Amino acid sequence: MPIPATSHIWFNGKLVPWEKATVHVLAHALHYGSSVFEGLRAYATPKGVAIFRLGDHTRRLFDSAKIYRIQIPFLPAQIDAACRETVAVNGLNKGAYIRPVAFRGYGEIGVAPKVEPPIEVAVAAWEWGKYLGHESEAEGVDVCVSSWQRMAPNTLPAMAKASGNYLSSQLISLEAKRLGFAEGIGLATDGTVSEGAGENLFLVKDGVLLTPALSHSVLGGITRNTVMKLAAELGIEVRECAVPRELLYLADELFFTGTAAEVTPVRSVDRLAVGSGRRGPVTERIQQAFFGLFDGRTEDKWGWLDYVDMRAGARVAVAG
Ligand code: PMP
Repeated sequence: MPIPATSHIWFNGKLVPWEKATVHVLAHALHYGSSVFEGLRAYATPKGVAIFRLGDHTRRLFDSAKIYRIQIPFLPAQIDAACRETVAVNGLNKGAYIRPVAFRGYGEIGVAPKVEPPIEVAVAAWEWGKYLGHESEAEGVDVCVSSWQRMAPNTLPAMAKASGNYLSSQLISLEAKRLGFAEGIGLATDGTVSEGAGENLFLVKDGVLLTPALSHSVLGGITRNTVMKLAAELGIEVRECAVPRELLYLADELFFTGTAAEVTPVRSVDRLAVGSGRRGPVTERIQQAFFGLFDGRTEDKWGWLDYVDMRAGARVAVAG
């Protein structure tokens, strides 16, 4: 399904009509993968539309850029404001997916040109539903272990959310879908579990939550971090560790986390049922705590919800 167009995209500091937010075919990023990006969600909460962990996503965008020596020509506060503005100006009252991207644009060609190409920055937002399907939240999804491994340490840094890393994700996800699975899990090059093509992974074994450590080629997911904090609140022990592949088959419960995937149970791996083959009780508790942040059942002790002034959007739209 194509992205449902909204009226405006924030592009290099200005709001421009959706169809005008275009780049040159010789942009550096298109040829060499030199872009970093984020994915955020805004939720319609009882107190209004709020962006989830906006500051943390913006920090990760700047961290990803730092690794690739991309100098974003805006301050983090300006990117935060751009995210709020795109939600507001497009009237996304029901919630949204927000996509900031920063990239080496059109300039000199060459992998490491003498003159740095201009760094372009865009923020788009649109309405988006469940990533892994509507039923998946309760029913869980069927996944496989991919024949493609994740990037080896000291090759492409997994902690950077850089577009080039998503070539690995594409291989993993395309293979999984071709074989009839909802998603694929990549192993790290030491053969231990890394993560899904676009999701972190948690296992429940004997009441303890296990998740691969950052040293196993995983992105430091913001939903992963959220789940770790919520689990601590719920008195559930969490361990970041090396996860052998076979533990995927022997786990009592398994679930994915991610901005797009939210908290999605995994009911089978390689056609072997995980636990009872349906969402388990720990996963359900974590889901309730997580989704509770957006419907008011879970107190936002951390200040994770960044409320958007939707009237500001109407003012900008009228002025523009
Ligand atoms: N791993 C990968 C490879 C991803 O693309 C994502 C989605 N950003 C995640 C994990 C989950 O990260 P987050 O919870 O910050 O969305």
